[in-house]
Amino acid sequence: FTNLGDLPVLPQPESFALTAAYNEDTFPNKVNLGQGVYRDNNCQPWVLPSIREAEQTLHNQQVNHEYLPIAGHAQFLTKARDLLFSPAIASQDNITSIQAVAGTGANHLAAIFCARNLRPKNVFISDPTWDNHHLIWEIAAPNVTRKLYPYYDPCTRGLNFDGMLSELEKSAEENDVVILHACAHNPTGIDPTQDQWKKIADAVRRKKLIVIFDCAYQGFASGAADADAWAIRYFYTTLFTESSSSTGPAGMFVCQSLSKNFGLYGERIGALHLITPPLLPTQGAKAHLVRLVRAEISCPSLFGARLVHTVLDDTELVSKWHEDVKTMAHRIKGVRALLKSELETLGAQGDWGHIEQQIGMFSFTGLSSAQVQQLREKHHIYMLSNGRMSLSGLDEGNVAYVAQAIKDVL
Ligand code: PMP
Repeated sequence: FTNLGDLPVLPQPESFALTAAYNEDTFPNKVNLGQGVYRDNNCQPWVLPSIREAEQTLHNQQVNHEYLPIAGHAQFLTKARDLLFSPAIASQDNITSIQAVAGTGANHLAAIFCARNLRPKNVFISDPTWDNHHLIWEIAAPNVTRKLYPYYDPCTRGLNFDGMLSELEKSAEENDVVILHACAHNPTGIDPTQDQWKKIADAVRRKKLIVIFDCAYQGFASGAADADAWAIRYFYTTLFTESSSSTGPAGMFVCQSLSKNFGLYGERIGALHLITPPLLPTQGAKAHLVRLVRAEISCPSLFGARLVHTVLDDTELVSKWHEDVKTMAHRIKGVRALLKSELETLGAQGDWGHIEQQIGMFSFTGLSSAQVQQLREKHHIYMLSNGRMSLSGLDEGNVAYVAQAIKDVL
């Protein structure tokens, strides 16, 4: 018997708490560098022009609002899969795709499916990572032990590749899960090189690890969706095509979020792709995924799936979308250069090269949690206490203010 009144109050997830605090702040020059959402040149939400057109198309079609099948919008799923794997690769039939409640839902579905059907002993999570990885696995897979693998080296402000690989070599057992960020790692903005990815794939094959690729920022790393899918495609072709060894891992998952690269944050659209070893039947795995979705949401929601499908199904709209992605990636790149140069002009102590070298939506600034707190209390600048800054909250109008404030708290 639990007295509900005895349940302890829990802290709010940090990025949501920050946004709430930011919204309440009445200071005119406040700056929100907390939440990982794209903002335009004036730090306002941006509806992608390709999505605006798709909205209009759907409006003109006078669509209905019937239930989707449990597995989701079939044509959307084919297009979403092709975006990750390229149509040539995806024509192989060992990829099972199912619609998910954005990237979070895909991660959750992968965790429950693994825990119930593949029964890994451990899940290896990068240190640091998107904080929800921990919560998802704690709640969806309580019997799987969460372990960290080193990722960030504070001395070099780069990837601790040797630490990462040696931890996996030393501690991971056959059938354990490793979560890898497909591109634009959150929060560090540092990805492995192609050569390093090849070594990780080799370790995964030898140790027979189950990979979960979390792909939340396809397009944000390089500005090009194909280039950002390189690691996923490499793992697929080396580990899961007919020419690859049949003694490799039990499977691989890709959790695909379309929140950021289509600007559809609140529509909660994504997909989970399960890759099985070549020539194995896939119907059983699909049936189990469908059963989990049925128990959780009965069937997924329509609008985001329709929008993404409308864009990806129209040659002209697809090229507009590629331009939209480029626009977002390039603006963030530009803001990186701007912030670095402001800090250098002001003579802010230290080397700020990492701000420009890191990729994707974030900079792992190296600021301490005490400095982050001062930024908030003294300057009304909001960012995560681990020093992660969401760069899209910067524009030409506030970057000098932010640089001056950083200099002040150093
Ligand atoms: N994975 C990572 C690494 C993320 O950063 C995010 C979003 N912050 C997600 C997954 C999930 O995003 P969403 O559920 O909004 O698609």
